[in-house]
Amino acid sequence: MRLSRYFLPVLKENPAEAQIVSHRLMLRAGMIKQSAAGIYSWLPLGLKVLKNIETIVHEEQAKAGHLAMLMPTIQSADLWRESGRYDDYGEEMLRIKDRHGRDMLFTPTAEELITDIFRGHVTSYKDMPLTMYQIQWKFRDERRPRFGVMRGREFYMKDGYNFDLTKEDAMHAYNRHLVSYLRTYERMGLQAIPMRADSGPIGGDDTHEFLVLAETGESEVFYDSAVTDLTFGDRDINYDDKAQCQSIMEEFTTKYARTDETHDEALFAEVPQERRKVARGIEVGQIFYFGAKYSEAMGATVQDADGKQVPVHMGSHGIGVSRLVGAIIEASHDDKGIIWPEGVTPFHCGIVNLKQGDAEADAACEDLYSQLTKAGLEPLYDDRNERAGGKFATMDLIGLPWRLTVGPRGLKNGVVELTCRKTGDSEELTPEAAIAKVIAQYM
Ligand code: ATP
Ligand code: MG
Repeated sequence: MRLSRYFLPVLKENPAEAQIVSHRLMLRAGMIKQSAAGIYSWLPLGLKVLKNIETIVHEEQAKAGHLAMLMPTIQSADLWRESGRYDDYGEEMLRIKDRHGRDMLFTPTAEELITDIFRGHVTSYKDMPLTMYQIQWKFRDERRPRFGVMRGREFYMKDGYNFDLTKEDAMHAYNRHLVSYLRTYERMGLQAIPMRADSGPIGGDDTHEFLVLAETGESEVFYDSAVTDLTFGDRDINYDDKAQCQSIMEEFTTKYARTDETHDEALFAEVPQERRKVARGIEVGQIFYFGAKYSEAMGATVQDADGKQVPVHMGSHGIGVSRLVGAIIEASHDDKGIIWPEGVTPFHCGIVNLKQGDAEADAACEDLYSQLTKAGLEPLYDDRNERAGGKFATMDLIGLPWRLTVGPRGLKNGVVELTCRKTGDSEELTPEAAIAKVIAQYM
């Protein structure tokens, strides 16, 4: 992409309405624009990051054997009356009437609709287990929408649902989700710690929230600092292997890590003092096992191997896809701007032409651009007729992990400059060596 043809409405001033750094930087980098309280348009740069996160979620869900589908945002109230949640959900549910006076709503989550789909088609234990998910817009009429996309009213969420014959199978689904979520967040360059949590209006007993530690997080969390040493890394996982999924789940959830709702002072006191941490975190996901709560209320039963009708065991699982854009920035920025992890960056590499219009510099930039593109990467070439200082400030603000700087002086010596956004380190390399190094980062 050439910046001269892109839509990147960067702001020089700090927007007054933004209280936290991710909101400020998303507005300043031209990623989003508010259209109403807690409702945002995603501008081209913001959408690219959102889509990259979405792609990682899809890929990791596919590996775990979960099936992607899509349910409507507008749903009929009738289904929600069956489960009792039409009344229970309260003010957070956006209620709408259609032209015939029928009660509709904008989906805040989709347990009811998926259960309806399930009961309409699945009648036998032979068709289970089944896990389906979607990535779809949700609406919750939050009392205090704030912090930009972190607490929006409209937000983009992955929500998945598992249907199993037995509690044991449903717990395998739970563990499988826990493992797949660990991998998902790590690919985004994030450490998200599973913490024992409270189930809220979804209901149920077993639940973990995934929290990214950050001072601006809305949740107070209590944990054994040893949990921050755990990483998933590139170990092989077979999602059908119940024992393996369970042992990874145990590895990541046995040490003390809880949100304030489930915090237990007496248990916490058993953690060695120097490892006891109280901090703040951003909830980027949650998994639940709730057994037969919805299947009983809504008659989602199947015939088991003995011919008996039994309600199915269910769980649900959510990832805050749009919130993650903000959470990643909270975890990765400096005073100049965003620092994108390579896994989610909107462009792989910036190219800054120090002297636009200089025949040699222009040709060298074009060449870098086409070589990176041929290698399957997406560069962002700042080809505007602007001062170098302004170009650097923009590149730093939008946070691409690598920047190639090209100018007549370097070219005389046969070199361009390659700069790492995270460390700030620069080195002079031949164009070929610089390209090879950038490509190697993404292999
Ligand atoms: P919170 O406690 O932050 O209100 P929640 O527990 O109600 O969230 P879930 O029902 O667990 O949310 O939804 C799954 C995920 O969706 C959450 O982990 C979070 O990352 C994201 N999410 C929830 N509410 C919002 C919101 N208002 N704006 C952006 N993302 C949200
Ligand atoms: Mg939650």
